Amino acid sequence: MQCSACASLDAKKKIYDHHLVNVINDTEAQGYIDQNVPEHYLFKGLVRICESCGYGELETQLDEEKIASYYDMAFWGKNNLTQRVQGAIAGDFSSTHLARARRQQEFISSYRTIDTFNKVLEIGAGDALLSRELQKYSLTDAKFDVCEPGEHWLPYYEKYNINKVADFFPFKANKTYDLIVTSHWLEHIQHVENTLVGLGNMLEQEGLLMIEVPNTAHAYWDLPVKDTPHIHFFTERSLSKFAAKAGFEIVDSGEFGILFEEHKAGKPPNYEDLGRNSKGYSLLILLRKH
Ligand SMILES: [Zn+2]
Repeated sequence: MQCSACASLDAKKKIYDHHLVNVINDTEAQGYIDQNVPEHYLFKGLVRICESCGYGELETQLDEEKIASYYDMAFWGKNNLTQRVQGAIAGDFSSTHLARARRQQEFISSYRTIDTFNKVLEIGAGDALLSRELQKYSLTDAKFDVCEPGEHWLPYYEKYNINKVADFFPFKANKTYDLIVTSHWLEHIQHVENTLVGLGNMLEQEGLLMIEVPNTAHAYWDLPVKDTPHIHFFTERSLSKFAAKAGFEIVDSGEFGILFEEHKAGKPPNYEDLGRNSKGYSLLILLRKH
């Protein structure tokens, strides 16, 4: 099997959610999984990590419908989600999430001023903090759409003039966008290249796509990080390869935030900590459609 990002054949394997187990071969690893990972777990198996570009992909084929029902409810848990939505309506957000949205907005606005965007789409939006951050700098008639599973967030979106247009991507859009943003979503979807091509099709010429994902290039695989429910594991190099294959111009990309070691130790990053930082735990990339 070759790397979906760079086509290299060289790879190592890790056991999903069990990074510290030494994988000798697939058969032994499968024996470990059978003994230690509950049967009903949807996300499990081996992750193939490219030795050349660092891209990691869960090898297990997942059922699209099961994934959909997982995100509709199980991701946050029914009670937690209700509480989260109520908290969001009351304006209760972690300072880290607010700071992250501010950093993302600044990343975009260093290339194009926010008030030039009129049709914005946020995918996997949840509390849509980036859309709300962008709204601060937008003209009043700019439209903000979101794609997010379920009905839970509707009262919150209504309060902030955000229009929910779909549960899942891809969906049939009745317009194109001049900015599409996704934060910690691309690592959850099934097919990266198809998804990027699909996003490109929804953009206007010269439209921008901003993506943030976890950065697994450095300490990630040597730490007991839990992956669930991630399917893809990106490095700056592999994400750039996917973007180029999907026909985008790379405007900028970089590593941002604290180190995974610091994150794992429980450090809550503030605004200063979330800036550009070599080996930081997040990747940001800004792409342009031609
Ligand atoms: Zn590769």
